[in-house]
Amino acid sequence: MRRRQLRRRRSQRRSRPVRRFPPTSPMRSDHTGPEFDVAIVGAGAAGLAASAVLRAAGRRCILIEAGDRIGGRAHTLHPALLGGACFDTGATWLHAAERNPLVALARRRGIALEPAFRGGRRLLVAGRTASDAEQAAYESSRAAWEALVTARAGGPDCTLSEAGSARAGDPWTASIENWDGAIIAAADAGELSLHDWHRNVLDDDNLSPPDGVGTLLETLLGPLAGPARLATPVRGIAWGGTGCVLRCDGACLTARAVIVTVSTGVLRSGHIAFEPELPPDILDAIDGLPMGLLSKLALPAAAPVGAIEDDTLVERQVPERGDPGMLVSVRPHGLGYVAGFFGGRHAWSLADRPEAALAEARAILREADSDAEPGAGGLVTGWGTDPLFGGAYAYCRPGRAGSRAALSRPLCDGRLSFAGEACRADGLAGTVGGAMLDGERAAQAVLRCIIGLHSVPSLAALG
Ligand SMILES: Cc1cc2nc3c(=O)[nH]c(=O)nc-3n(C[C@H](O)[C@H](O)[C@H](O)COP(=O)(O)OP(=O)(O)OC[C@H]3O[C@@H](n4cnc5c(N)ncnc54)[C@H](O)[C@@H]3O)c2cc1C
Repeated sequence: MRRRQLRRRRSQRRSRPVRRFPPTSPMRSDHTGPEFDVAIVGAGAAGLAASAVLRAAGRRCILIEAGDRIGGRAHTLHPALLGGACFDTGATWLHAAERNPLVALARRRGIALEPAFRGGRRLLVAGRTASDAEQAAYESSRAAWEALVTARAGGPDCTLSEAGSARAGDPWTASIENWDGAIIAAADAGELSLHDWHRNVLDDDNLSPPDGVGTLLETLLGPLAGPARLATPVRGIAWGGTGCVLRCDGACLTARAVIVTVSTGVLRSGHIAFEPELPPDILDAIDGLPMGLLSKLALPAAAPVGAIEDDTLVERQVPERGDPGMLVSVRPHGLGYVAGFFGGRHAWSLADRPEAALAEARAILREADSDAEPGAGGLVTGWGTDPLFGGAYAYCRPGRAGSRAALSRPLCDGRLSFAGEACRADGLAGTVGGAMLDGERAAQAVLRCIIGLHSVPSLAALG
């Protein structure tokens, strides 16, 4: 119900009148005198970072966004249902703080960031709170599981669940796989490449911006990136000649190079037509990186929820491997709501049933405390059904761990390149920080290869 309201608001805004490009040529790439040095498709973290770097180098660039706002999958709302509290519908934490360019930008501006996950944990077993012994057994099972799969990562690739199969009989393996697969990687452990999963384990510091990740990205990177052309979906890109032509609704524009930062969900959907078609290795890389789904929900909780302390993470033991599991965070940082997280197949199965997801979160709270009674209603995110994203973030199929590096290879001497969270091959895939660094990488490559600069700006020098 609430999610539908959210979706309706998005689509209403998307359809408002916008300035269109003047109609120019049909799809051709052999013209002279392009209007822009670089066109950037998509104004999420990667697109904003690319634009900021290109503008710092004094280039004429255009940032084109299909939606009605910048930020993409980093988006903060203040819903009236939650008393105006800040709720990130997508990215929630700043992972790998010491490598995260958004953290560096925030620090340069003197913005305080709080440690994430500083509250307590409540583990539920068969409808009751776990004993200390059960809690300790969970922790030691996790350590043993991590040692097993880490050792297996040195061998041939397989799925994460195959890597942990020697511990299939352990009563906590299903919960550990739910956490590391469905929740963190947005896909079930049986679908994930062990090698890619291992490369992207995020074990550094995690921080939380008080006003939300979406707000932080928009206020810090938005001005550096310059204005975006909103509500302008790119439908086609001709890239094979000496320049590129982008076809938007009813109009075309020309650029010397294009950086495409849309999700692999959008690339797989065929909503953007490429002329000529993308080469087989790029299509193969896109196929190797399908979109996973992590969904979030929020139940209003203006006051403490029963006797559960604020900032408590409630986790149910998952009975069997592959069974669904939802995590519930009670009034994180004291904010007036309960947040829920559920991913992988479970999230896809609830994508059209927000009421069922909200009911599951309420049932978990009641198991933790029979007096727990959050307020009525709730919100559930809809990333899986939004055609501008097609999921939460990309995961890697087993045997395809080279896909991220392959997708980041520039085409046609750098005239066409892809960037974004899915392309990040240095351990920050699927994150806002990784997307920003990837936008920077693509912009710097264009400046070197197409514009011919030897010295190029970096995100670290901006802001
Ligand atoms: C529920 C959820 C939780 C997450 N949690 C975290 C977290 O805690 N920490 C973290 O670091 N990351 C998290 N992430 C991941 C993070 O949000 C993404 O990795 C990152 O924001 C992706 O940025 P991007 O620029 O690669 O892509 P996007 O943000 O998807 O940007 C691409 C843009 O392209 C636009 N677009 C699509 N089609 C077209 C078209 N045809 N023409 C023009 N524009 C188009 C889209 O509207 C979008 O704005 C989470 C994501 C989700 C969904």
